[in-house]
Amino acid sequence: MILPPATLGMLGGGQLGRFFVTAAHEMGYQVWVLDPDKNSPAAQIAERHFCVSYDDYAALDEFANGCAAITTEFENVPAATLDYLAKFVPVRPSAAAVAICQNRIAEKSFLRDNGLPHGPFAAINCEDDIRNADLALFPAILKVARFGYDGKGQVTVNSREEALLAFGHFKGEHCVLEQRLTLDYEVSVVLARDEHGQVQCFPTGENQHTQGILDVSIVPARTTGCVRGDAEEVAARIAEKLGYIGTMGVEFFISRGQLIVNEMAPRPHNSGHYTIDACVTNQFEQQVRALCGLPLGEARAHSASVMVNLLGDLWYDGETYREPDWTKLYAIPNLKLHLYGKHHARPGRKMGHFTVIGDNAEAVQKTALAARAAIGIKDE
Ligand code: ADP
Ligand code: MG
Repeated sequence: MILPPATLGMLGGGQLGRFFVTAAHEMGYQVWVLDPDKNSPAAQIAERHFCVSYDDYAALDEFANGCAAITTEFENVPAATLDYLAKFVPVRPSAAAVAICQNRIAEKSFLRDNGLPHGPFAAINCEDDIRNADLALFPAILKVARFGYDGKGQVTVNSREEALLAFGHFKGEHCVLEQRLTLDYEVSVVLARDEHGQVQCFPTGENQHTQGILDVSIVPARTTGCVRGDAEEVAARIAEKLGYIGTMGVEFFISRGQLIVNEMAPRPHNSGHYTIDACVTNQFEQQVRALCGLPLGEARAHSASVMVNLLGDLWYDGETYREPDWTKLYAIPNLKLHLYGKHHARPGRKMGHFTVIGDNAEAVQKTALAARAAIGIKDE
């Protein structure tokens, strides 16, 4: 076991990294953050910031030398960087697990090869793959295999011709072509798995997206215990097959009553932010525990909750840039506001979130939606 006051390494300095630093500090650890952005939210509160690129090997040497173990919050850290660091210190999750989750072709193939539920898809490496794709895939969504997030790098295509055109716009990037499914609703499971294979699943949440970005998470998901249980079981199987150590998120579709895995994230997940305020242990403390070889904490939710994302759009009143009126949110006693310390708000950028907690799930939903409207978030 790696015990405090050891120094832990975090690759990536976004809000997920910042919450990790907070959890690690609470537990008595120190944290070094490596991220090329000089204003990164996590680096602001870490003991040390390596403001370098992920392939600066001289810096990686020094980083590994000072850290007892290393983890990541950014799924696009090059797998080669993780492999390199693992020569010197424990790196969790492994490069192999991250490599699968960071490439949609590898991810979908992993699901298929392990008999896990997934939607119809084709790997698109060249134009001929589109010409040979099953017509039953259309209408479809063409997604770049790497570096897509928050709905970026994907486009709906109704025919082979449209797919060819879109593939051209992605400039030959490898892609997946996915059948566009009719979604009843979406859920996700965040879980932690330790080095002994013990898994703790947080309760399944229901997610609403707006323009491809997570907007609202409702926990527990408003569905049957059966769907929630199946989602947790599938998520745990994925973690086991990946040999995963750490916290991960699995996104699901429910399409015509069927549970289908959408994608996996090899890190804590936005839809798991409710765990900070509503669970015995939160997803970031679990990440610290799994990284350090400590036993996992209890994942049980002590409250019903609704989490609402706060995007940069809120900082704009027409053309005017100004801070939102947080007093509207402070007035609600069972609402917890979290701001990430980002210096500049851009439309679509995740700036913070709030979580409403309580015993009565319906009352919590009402309060959260009223708070969302009060702060100025409009429905599409
Ligand atoms: P990201 O990495 O940006 O989160 P996702 O693949 O999760 O990308 O897509 C974002 C959202 O777009 C999903 O949460 C879902 O609402 C919608 N979506 C993605 N793929 C499909 C699909 N095959 N059928 C229907 N809706 C989809
Ligand atoms: Mg997603």
